[in-house]
Amino acid sequence: MADKSNPLQQFVDGIAASVAIVGRGQGGELIVSACNDGFFDMTGGRRGGLRGSSVLLDAQMPSYARHEFRKKLLECFNTGIAQELEQAYDFKGGTRWWRLSLKPFRHAGGNSSVLEILVTGLDITPKMILTHELEVSTSRFRSVVDAAYDAIITVDQEHNITLFNRAAENLFGYDASEVIGHPLVNLLPEKFRSHHSAYIHQFSRSPVNSRQMDERNRIWGQHRDGTLLPVEIAISKINVGGLLEFTAVIRDITDRVRLMDLLQKQAVTDELTGLPNRREFLEVMEKVLESDEQLAVLMLDIDYFKKVNDTYGHDAGDEVLRVLSKIGMAASRKMDVFARWGGEEFVAALPGLDAEHARATAEKLRTTFEKRDFQHDWSIGRAIPFTVSIGVATRADGENDLDAIMKRADEALYQAKENGRNRVEVG
Ligand code: GH3
Ligand code: MG
Ligand code: MG
Repeated sequence: MADKSNPLQQFVDGIAASVAIVGRGQGGELIVSACNDGFFDMTGGRRGGLRGSSVLLDAQMPSYARHEFRKKLLECFNTGIAQELEQAYDFKGGTRWWRLSLKPFRHAGGNSSVLEILVTGLDITPKMILTHELEVSTSRFRSVVDAAYDAIITVDQEHNITLFNRAAENLFGYDASEVIGHPLVNLLPEKFRSHHSAYIHQFSRSPVNSRQMDERNRIWGQHRDGTLLPVEIAISKINVGGLLEFTAVIRDITDRVRLMDLLQKQAVTDELTGLPNRREFLEVMEKVLESDEQLAVLMLDIDYFKKVNDTYGHDAGDEVLRVLSKIGMAASRKMDVFARWGGEEFVAALPGLDAEHARATAEKLRTTFEKRDFQHDWSIGRAIPFTVSIGVATRADGENDLDAIMKRADEALYQAKENGRNRVEVG
């Protein structure tokens, strides 16, 4: 059988496959009647075992592979139909995988034809290792993508979604299966959709491969329920076999936006009164001065406020500041801005008013406080009386010098104090 002097045997041993012929003995036992070296290599069987005679298949096979192999052989014998199987054989040097094909054939033996099976096996270890490595790297990729804190979405050349990770599912409220294959624009607010494809087209032509999307403006996504989501997006493109694919890493910045809005509001708002602060007032005034409109400015100061603090306490003083702010804010629907200038001083801008109309407005405000012509539940149980002095200044034709205007209002205020307080003076 394994006769090394036989040229056919040499040929069969030389081919890069395991080859064996398996038949059945008298009692139905499976017998290897011929095989090459490759078959020994595969099963780890003893070469000597086959010298000159057939051997039992079981003796050639490691026990863990035996059962499966036998099953397929018997199936082949019983049905006469070729079979295939893949088997792993473990040896000291490692595991090797084989793809085995079992083909029944008949040949004359004595006075009847005998059914035997030609077993050929191909070593598919390298392919299995590759497949395994691919599986490992795919599952690693999948895990990383799914564990990512950021939403990750990829789209194909047609801007249809091809990947939608778990964070994306959470952020947008869709299951991956619902959006994969569908256009990305479904995740954008209606009014940004048309602009979006133009943006992607421009990005596909750009030499830059990844970038932060629109750093200056706020970007919005749209949740399944219609809610707008402030997001930050980094996009990148990759060339896959000549086709461009895009990946977007999307971060939900709702919390950050909320904080930024809060900080921004705090930066321009006076904490005690909720009015715009001096910085905000000046900012608004710069804009107001850009137009050529008429403009009047009021500067208001509480009279003898120190005495209010001394008589009623600092908290009561604070309450007066808040009351004054509330009334001033209500009146500022007609004025443009009413702001806290600092301490117990307030300022108002009245665009479009000349000196006389501004004086009338200031006078009205002054008498409101003087006559306590407003509703307020004082915390000490009774009203704290207070009056204010107001200085009015107007903008000269085409004047743009805000400091000069504020200075004239301050001088008018000083005049009002000088002239006895609880007064309005126009500078
Ligand atoms: P007049 O303006 O009529 O000349 O007298 P006044 O007593 O109001 O003058 P002054 O500007 O000297 O005093 C302002 C006082 O306002 C001093 C300060 O303690 C008080 N003040 C400033 N800011 C606050 C505040 O936020 N809360 C309270 N309760 N008092 C404040
Ligand atoms: Mg003062
Ligand atoms: Mg004062």
